[in-house]
Amino acid sequence: MSEECKNQERMDKIVSLCKRRGFIFPSSEIYGGINGFWDYGPYGSRMKRAIEALWWHEMVETRDNVEGLDSTIICHPQVWKASGHLDQFSDLMTDCKHCKMRHRVDQMPDPTTCPNCGSQDLTEPREFNLMMKTYVGPVFDDEHVAYLRAETCQPIFVDFQQVRIATRQKLPFGIAQIGKAFRNEINPRNFTFRSREFTQMEMEFFCDGEQGMEWFEYWKEQRIKYYREKLQFKDDFFRIYVHEKLAHYAKAAIDIEVKFPFGWGELEGVHHRGTWDLSRHSEYSGQDLQYVDHDNNRKIMPTVIETSVGLDRTLLAILSNAYDEDSAATKKEGMDEDIRVVLHLPPLVAPVQLAVLPQSKKLSENAEKLYRDLNRHFRCEYDVTGSIGKRYRRQDEIGTPFCLTFDFDSLNDNAVTIRDRDTMLQDRINITRLRDYLEEKIGL
Ligand code: ATP
Repeated sequence: MSEECKNQERMDKIVSLCKRRGFIFPSSEIYGGINGFWDYGPYGSRMKRAIEALWWHEMVETRDNVEGLDSTIICHPQVWKASGHLDQFSDLMTDCKHCKMRHRVDQMPDPTTCPNCGSQDLTEPREFNLMMKTYVGPVFDDEHVAYLRAETCQPIFVDFQQVRIATRQKLPFGIAQIGKAFRNEINPRNFTFRSREFTQMEMEFFCDGEQGMEWFEYWKEQRIKYYREKLQFKDDFFRIYVHEKLAHYAKAAIDIEVKFPFGWGELEGVHHRGTWDLSRHSEYSGQDLQYVDHDNNRKIMPTVIETSVGLDRTLLAILSNAYDEDSAATKKEGMDEDIRVVLHLPPLVAPVQLAVLPQSKKLSENAEKLYRDLNRHFRCEYDVTGSIGKRYRRQDEIGTPFCLTFDFDSLNDNAVTIRDRDTMLQDRINITRLRDYLEEKIGL
């Protein structure tokens, strides 16, 4: 099988697992779905929240100089005029007259040939604005047009002074936001990688221009460290792409790219945006967004370092990295199937961190009590149906890092067996030590 077919097969398996086990499925599927929109099911939504919480903890809660924001999705339309989105946030598109497929010109290997059917009968490329439009108020005319935000960072710039005054922060400091963004992508594809509705996690760090490059380096390193340590990305799974062509206002930009089954793709951007954003909003709003540096008796327009990552892409990257089919392991646990499908999810973001499995229904009362107790501290699931081996496999498939078996001996020795998903080794742990043991293993 060619490398391309293998990768396609791997992607198909991930998509199918996501659907089968309730991670992600097409939105409104009973009506045939809607292209570029995805629903996160019970495990997917748990995982999404866990990633959000991890990012928020890492970027806001553990830092005294980063504040949080939760702004509206619909802003004053002038925000998007000032940001340049209304005039420039567009892609060139072309339609194949033969197979009727629509393409983004910059994504076509050869812009004169349809990548779907090979026809050269294409329409003239034309600009297509990606902003999603709506109307605010009862009249549907041009005066009442508004837009769904195309990125979460613009409201951060707009609210910069409010946040600074309210928090008495001095430069350098950051503002972070997690929220939905909408783009009318011409060609949504690669599962959730390019969606029309997605969640972004962005942080804008405001500093004195003289220290801009230092802070750029700092945030780049911080973000790489996060991927290595918290999401367990190995060096061969991600790489840094350094932008050579920069926007006219930008001083430096890198993308953190990861190896999805369909190829390398951008996961996060770390950008030095100069004073562009605040200057534009100052100009368009007529409000002074400069910072008064009382220590040095001067006014400056802060420089911005941005870290911007998609939550959906993070989740897809983690799944792409985690999916595994393991044939050698199956015999170990007395199972007769050929392969064990397992998600090696980082314990910090796994939808279920611990499965509590009583050896027999007769032990349900004690086991369930233990489950209720542990569920206050970890994301737990209780499963009493089927053989222990089958229950392990179900947990392997959803990426549960630890399975706890409560057996008849537990009644006497007050200990349980903890089975590790990756090594499949088992430890006997006293119930009084369980919480510490799991916290350490999960990395809490
Ligand atoms: P691309 O070049 O892939 O379209 P971009 O450079 O336009 O992405 P940014 O505007 O920098 O992306 O957005 C920041 C992050 O938001 C991206 O790195 C990505 O993780 C996420 N993102 C952007 N567009 C989408 C989308 N259509 N679907 C899912 N996530 C997205």
